[in-house]
Amino acid sequence: MRKKIVAGNWKMNLTKNEGLLLVEGVLNGVGDTDTKVILGVPFPFISDTVSMVEGSPVSVAAQNCHQEKSGAFTGEVSVDMLKSFGVEYCIVGHSERRQYFGETDRFVNHKIELLLDAGIQPIYCCGETLEQRQDGGHLQVIEEQIQSALQGFTKDQLKQIIVAYEPVWAIGTGETATPEQAQEIHSFIRKKLAQVMADEAEDVSILYGGSVKPDNAKELFAQKDIDGGLIGGASLNAPDFLEIIHSF
Ligand code: PEP
Repeated sequence: MRKKIVAGNWKMNLTKNEGLLLVEGVLNGVGDTDTKVILGVPFPFISDTVSMVEGSPVSVAAQNCHQEKSGAFTGEVSVDMLKSFGVEYCIVGHSERRQYFGETDRFVNHKIELLLDAGIQPIYCCGETLEQRQDGGHLQVIEEQIQSALQGFTKDQLKQIIVAYEPVWAIGTGETATPEQAQEIHSFIRKKLAQVMADEAEDVSILYGGSVKPDNAKELFAQKDIDGGLIGGASLNAPDFLEIIHSF
């Protein structure tokens, strides 16, 4: 049985007090759930958030890490640093990092390797742009992303990876993939994983991300291959985020 997961991605939003209040709001409302809840917080909030969520069903994700183990990379944060603060998950390959910071699947592949070595679960994001979808090339784009980012890993390593399908045209735009569009890609991703992992691809959680809100989460999460969501905007508001968590 694969895990149901709802992960928030705060991006570069909120100050310390706002962020910690939001963590408190989520903790107060999360209740007894078998959905894994993950908060993707900015680096400066990691230490406090890890302490606050201890003993709850909530875990902490970083939104990025560097692709080298350590060294002269001013301003960057390594996987070992994240591990030493108790981070359990890390988002990699988010489309904003690809678009604004030149992150490629080759870098992402290195990041995933370091994360897996450290025992941190990567949340690997992939997804096509509007142009690629309009050209009809979206399946090929996803296939290429998955092949290059996930190459070289064993079945056991692949089982540790959470995949997030995030069509770029749906992120922060208010436009959501229809449940059918999302399901088509999720099932495609699972088939591609099955070429390497056989039946064990059934155990990989594949999240949908792109303008998930309380009013569309239920229908998206009801799809056979959608195992939860990566939530940006709606994770900045505790009641909305909680409603999404409780949409399963
Ligand atoms: C995201 O940040 O990964 C995301 C999906 O954002 P939003 O939910 O705001 O579209």
